Amino acid sequence: MIDLDKLLASEEVKKEYYKTFLVCMFQKMCVKMERNPEFKRKVRQLYRETYNFTVTIQQLILRELKQKISIEDAKLMATWFKANLNKLNNRKTIPLSVKKELYSKQNGKCMICGEDLGNDWAKIHVDHIIPFKLVGDELPDNYQDLCDSCNTYKSARTDFIFKSMLKLI
Ligand SMILES: [Zn+2]
Repeated sequence: MIDLDKLLASEEVKKEYYKTFLVCMFQKMCVKMERNPEFKRKVRQLYRETYNFTVTIQQLILRELKQKISIEDAKLMATWFKANLNKLNNRKTIPLSVKKELYSKQNGKCMICGEDLGNDWAKIHVDHIIPFKLVGDELPDNYQDLCDSCNTYKSARTDFIFKSMLKLI
């Protein structure tokens, strides 16, 4: 049986949970930019014209989502916003060499379930940690290798986490 208290006390789980929360806030802002071109135009203008985009993002999150985030988190989110504003909508084919490089970095294990990925390259998938539709291929460290089943279920799972966390904001 899973010891939930122990699981939630783990620093690693807390970090994951917090990162998901940041991604969730970012996703909410992306949805707003998509639905409201005028808002997106304003954010783009801020990106081009403000001296410190990190502080701008910190203020934007406070104003739009009523969340106070640290300057480190704002710095991270600013790179995501920048990626969103610059992203192309067509997917790049990720070369096999990238898949192999991630494979050895991850010791041949799936980043979600931890199972061995095996050696059938067709069944190993390079996944965008922060979804492609939000940041495109603009972030260099945004890839991980997943097994076949985790890759199939990831989008449903992520949407579920996003949806449940949105209720907390
Ligand atoms: Zn897996």
